[in-house]
Amino acid sequence: MARPAKSNRPAKRRNDAGTLRRPDRPARAEAEAAVRTLLRWAGDDPDREGLLGTPERVVRAFEEWYAGYDEDPREYLKRTFEEVAGYDEIVLLRDVRFVSHCEHHMAPIIGRVHIAYLPRHRVVGISKLVRLVDAYAKRLQVQEKLTAEIASCLDTVLKPHGVAVVVEGAHECMTTRGVRRSDVTMVTSRMLGVFRTQPQTRAEFLAAIDLGSAARAGKNGA
Ligand SMILES: [Zn+2]
Repeated sequence: MARPAKSNRPAKRRNDAGTLRRPDRPARAEAEAAVRTLLRWAGDDPDREGLLGTPERVVRAFEEWYAGYDEDPREYLKRTFEEVAGYDEIVLLRDVRFVSHCEHHMAPIIGRVHIAYLPRHRVVGISKLVRLVDAYAKRLQVQEKLTAEIASCLDTVLKPHGVAVVVEGAHECMTTRGVRRSDVTMVTSRMLGVFRTQPQTRAEFLAAIDLGSAARAGKNGA
């Protein structure tokens, strides 16, 4: 996950709000001018009628696709429900849809996340888990990092007995260009705590999400 930083800035420095938004964000007009440049680079004329509003629309779309830079995912988990009333079984959320963008091409990654944890004292509302996925997905990502970040955030904030996260993603940089394989889905997983150390708990999770390929991925625990 940690790769050598090209500058001496730590890769994940957080600002005062606990988000990743960088303070030197350019002005909106600068972003729109950059889109005009890309339109010209593609071969078109940004001044023709059909494209006049495009830079503005693209920048607005960016605000949605990359909204995760303004969010601190840990905050979503802090309002937890302490009362588990002796509940000591797996909590599982299946098929959380997400849209992210790969950091290599800025092309969409579209897929589903399956999340499980074995609570120790605290459980968290379903909508919070969905927001957690969104906050990480709405950033430039690699799927392995997205998977690890979701698992690690749950593990750090909830401190459960274990966390399991499986992500299935179709990468449009692969399906629409390059090798153009439309049928390829990438599966990544992260198993922590009892999901890593107890094969039976892991098997229970993998059976519940009904994903044959995840069973193989899970054995690596990575
Ligand atoms: Zn890519």
